[in-house]
Amino acid sequence: MSRIAFIRKKAKLRGMLGIRARLVVLALILVSPLMFDRVRVLEEQRTAQIGAIASELATLAQRTADAQREVISSVEAVLKSAAYIYASADRSRGCSILQSSLRVDLPSIRMLAIANRDGIITCSTSSMFVGANVSDRSYFRRAIETKGFVVSDFLVGRHTRTGTVLAGYPVAAIDGDDSTVMIAGLNLDWLSDIMGNLAGRNGVSAALIDGEGTVLAAPPDQRSLVGHKLEPAVLEFALASAPQGRELMTSKDDNGQLLSVVRIRGTSARLVVVLDENKVSAGINLDIRTAYLQLALVCLFVLLGALIAAERLIVQPISMLTESARKFAQGDWSVRASRTRLPAEFVPLARAFNGMAAQLGQRERELVATNHRLTVMASMDLLSGLANRRGFQSRLDFEWMKAQQSGSRLSLLMIDVDHFKLFNDSYGHPEGDACLGRIGEVLAGVADATGGLAARYGGEEFCLLLPATEAPRAVQVGEMVRDGVERLCLPHRTSLFQRVTVSIGVGCALPSGDSEPGELVEAADAALYAAKHRGRNTVVEHGFVRVTDTAIAIAS
Ligand code: GH3
Ligand code: MG
Ligand code: MG
Repeated sequence: MSRIAFIRKKAKLRGMLGIRARLVVLALILVSPLMFDRVRVLEEQRTAQIGAIASELATLAQRTADAQREVISSVEAVLKSAAYIYASADRSRGCSILQSSLRVDLPSIRMLAIANRDGIITCSTSSMFVGANVSDRSYFRRAIETKGFVVSDFLVGRHTRTGTVLAGYPVAAIDGDDSTVMIAGLNLDWLSDIMGNLAGRNGVSAALIDGEGTVLAAPPDQRSLVGHKLEPAVLEFALASAPQGRELMTSKDDNGQLLSVVRIRGTSARLVVVLDENKVSAGINLDIRTAYLQLALVCLFVLLGALIAAERLIVQPISMLTESARKFAQGDWSVRASRTRLPAEFVPLARAFNGMAAQLGQRERELVATNHRLTVMASMDLLSGLANRRGFQSRLDFEWMKAQQSGSRLSLLMIDVDHFKLFNDSYGHPEGDACLGRIGEVLAGVADATGGLAARYGGEEFCLLLPATEAPRAVQVGEMVRDGVERLCLPHRTSLFQRVTVSIGVGCALPSGDSEPGELVEAADAALYAAKHRGRNTVVEHGFVRVTDTAIAIAS
């Protein structure tokens, strides 16, 4: 990437990262470690919970197997004692003793029987078995061969047509010459009942299987498994656990099933407990999902909080200050930033803004006043203190327009100092300036008294504009001026009058649509010219100037 493209991208990114976005990112940076830690804890909890359930199940399986082992042991004990009684007592009484022995409460045994050396049942607590032949049953043969206690695999009774497990004990174990075998039918329901503590657990199944893998007993809620084979994968592992190997074997298959197999000592039976991790963790997963949801909500609230805080504490104050600055820029000098609604961090900025606004406002007022003074000065004559020609011209235009609208007359006096060149020659230029100043004072006084505008037209020429004034009155005013100057008694030795005098030309107009103010000036000038010709120190009226018919009367 070229350097320019990189700089552009950086600027774009910076543009995107406004204050709000930055605060949200900051909040995320703060919340993320907590989030990740919480997720880690939850995952650990999941593993720990599954581990705890697995170990609890292993313990339960071990206990259940112990209980079943005890059942088998109790059956063995019953058979041994029956064999002992049979061996030591009168053979004819043996059967009745056996029959009466079951009256004692032995829930683990359904029936007891005695088989002779040919495998024929000669005596049984259940008469239906008497005469039956068990010589072909492997447990019978094993009992004779091993001369010890044996337990059969799962069998289907020839008479009952129901599943059963039989235990045998040869009398030969006590009396070597006797080949009679004591037989007990195990109560499979009882074996199932003692597996009750493994029942009702989601994702947990248990079964007591025989050496062939047929289910002998199962917890009450899985009783339907009895008599059936377990699924091949489970069975393979269960049967693979060596009879002489460890008593408890655990394994985990590819489907996430945790298998525990406990061998029932002295028999080929095994207790198999299967823990389906997926099912067990379903409940835990729900808890974890809820926790994730809570976490997401917390994060959402944190982000919302960050956004609101950014809006309230930063964006709004900035907008407020910006708005104040904007109004100020538009000329509202009175605008000030309110400090009470601002967070403390912005107060110095608001104070600085207000200070700046106050100072700029003050400067603006000074500037306006100075401009006003300059405007006034630009239209003023400094020597006489009267309006200058510019000031006179704009006032003439204004009064001309006013007179046009009102239909009133407008008069103008043009005043020229007599023999002023000679005055300068006689008394010097500075004295001439002073003389002009005094004449200005006279004119200002008359203007004040008559509501006119006095101005210095140029050089030693003055004028007096008299709005809404008829010619006769204008002549009177002219006379006041002339007299006023003469009364100043300013000496002028080279003048015929020996004092400073002025000649005045009076013009009067009735301004109308197409007339020009200049026409009035020309008329007053012409009258002044006439006044000079008449010998000076006099007032001459130009005559009525009807500017509308552009007729300028000859000076009277
Ligand atoms: P008239 O009676 O015909 O008006 O004669 P005049 O000498 O007054 O007229 P002229 O136009 O010949 O001379 C005007 C003189 O006014 C010339 C000039 O030196 C003088 N003057 C013009 N402006 C000033 C000024 O500001 N100060 C002084 N001291 N003299 C000025
Ligand atoms: Mg002149
Ligand atoms: Mg003159």
